[in-house]
Amino acid sequence: MITLALSKGRIFDETLPLLRAAGIEVLEDPETSRKLILATNQPELRVVLVRATDVPTYVEYGGADLGITGRDTLIEHGGHGLYQPLDLDIARCRISVAVRKDFDYASAVRQGSRLRVATKYVGIARDFFATKGVHVDLIKLYGSMELAPLTGLADAIVDLVSTGNTLRANGLVEVERIMDISSRLVVNQAALKRKQAALRQVIDGFAAALRQPVGSAA
Ligand code: AMP
Repeated sequence: MITLALSKGRIFDETLPLLRAAGIEVLEDPETSRKLILATNQPELRVVLVRATDVPTYVEYGGADLGITGRDTLIEHGGHGLYQPLDLDIARCRISVAVRKDFDYASAVRQGSRLRVATKYVGIARDFFATKGVHVDLIKLYGSMELAPLTGLADAIVDLVSTGNTLRANGLVEVERIMDISSRLVVNQAALKRKQAALRQVIDGFAAALRQPVGSAA
């Protein structure tokens, strides 16, 4: 049995067409079913639904043989022991620094002030500001980052941005783009040795699906 770890939402939705192009159909819809283990049309392949931030952990410890997770999550996790054969180019967004419209970020950075930065991405934020030589106090949050500058909890946030609508709706502006993000396939290295043929088939299926022109994954 091969176990593929996915998270509900954008990654699941954008993975389905790739699976389909590789001849794999997931037999249940996670939005209507409460099941956490989903069968596929391939008796030897199942999907498990885990939180996005738990995907690398499941794959690292062998709870899943392979998984799909964002570059953001992988960098924060460290990616230990994970083979990363493919960038699937799905769930694309960026990690950026954002502040209130009326906050003078450029002068705060120039004057060497200590910035208070709220984020879920403490590792990425720490490395980014260290490289710039900006002193920061990092405040770890697990959600609703946009609220932090509005309530005075922080001067800035480091968060995922896609269309920018969430920032705009909350009176925030993007002042720096830290990195581009997309989701990658990650594989447990021990499983890759033990179940080589079966895993190679899935990895090659994804690789072939990526080579197909957009929209042809019927
Ligand atoms: P947007 O309003 O389109 O800029 O989306 C921003 C909101 O969606 C933020 O709350 C992000 O945390 C979340 N978001 C954007 N892109 C992604 C992604 N690829 N994966 C997970 N969350 C995302």
